[in-house]
Amino acid sequence: MSPPGETLADMTDPVDPFADIPSGWRAITAAMDSKLAWIAPAAEYTMVRVERGLLRVQVTPTSPEAERLLRDAEARAARTCEMCGGAGRAYMSVVGSVSTLCGDCSWD
Ligand SMILES: [Zn+2]
Repeated sequence: MSPPGETLADMTDPVDPFADIPSGWRAITAAMDSKLAWIAPAAEYTMVRVERGLLRVQVTPTSPEAERLLRDAEARAARTCEMCGGAGRAYMSVVGSVSTLCGDCSWD
């Protein structure tokens, strides 16, 4: 059940909240997920998505420790290639979409 007013974009798959996360970031989200279960066992993901080449994660209920963990994962993703998990940076495609990629993957 979704609370009233929740938009479709904020709905996260309860079975696999990371379904939309690219393979290069799965190690980051998996590590974040296991730490979160330890520091905030009651927390549930309300948002897990990729927005202009950046990872965006929100949980509820949250805490300063959980926020630190999520922001750390987002910062890691911002410098990790979303395709291969190597060292990445933001690239803009010819159509203007932004992805975080390494030099090799940016040629695709
Ligand atoms: Zn790459």
